Amino acid sequence: MPDCIFCKIVKGDIPAAKVYEGSKFIAFLDISPANKGHVLIIPKEHYERLEEMPNPDGKEFGELQVKIAKAVMKATNAEGFNLLLNNGKAAGQEVMHAHMHIQPRFGTDDFHYKWTHKKYEEGEMKQFQEKIRKFI
Ligand code: 5GP
Ligand code: ZN
Repeated sequence: MPDCIFCKIVKGDIPAAKVYEGSKFIAFLDISPANKGHVLIIPKEHYERLEEMPNPDGKEFGELQVKIAKAVMKATNAEGFNLLLNNGKAAGQEVMHAHMHIQPRFGTDDFHYKWTHKKYEEGEMKQFQEKIRKFI
């Protein structure tokens, strides 16, 4: 993808502070971090969305998140971390090359990551449960 900024980082056409490089994925510091040490993990192949990633790669992706999150925690002395994947424009994805955020968190930080909690009507929860189960 010629105009994709993350493909350019993979190719080395633009610089990035890489913390990991394997055959399928790289990880580097987010240029505008939620907290210092915020890392992005991306596939080297251009997949726009998570569900386009082939199954074996998805497994490696999951394992890598834990490995890198542990390293981020140790390096930053964070008390926790958020894994965040904005999948699709409606979900806030701005760079259209799939990427997982690892955001180190501190009890004292100013980063408020919460949504407004909705309520199910009577019987609605069961409907959603059944609909989702059907597609699994
Ligand atoms: P999204 O909103 O798509 O989930 O997040 C995209 C992230 O990519 C943002 O947090 C943004 O700071 C980061 N980002 C955008 N352009 C660059 C870049 O050129 N280099 C690096 N290291 N991070 C970038
Ligand atoms: Zn790309």
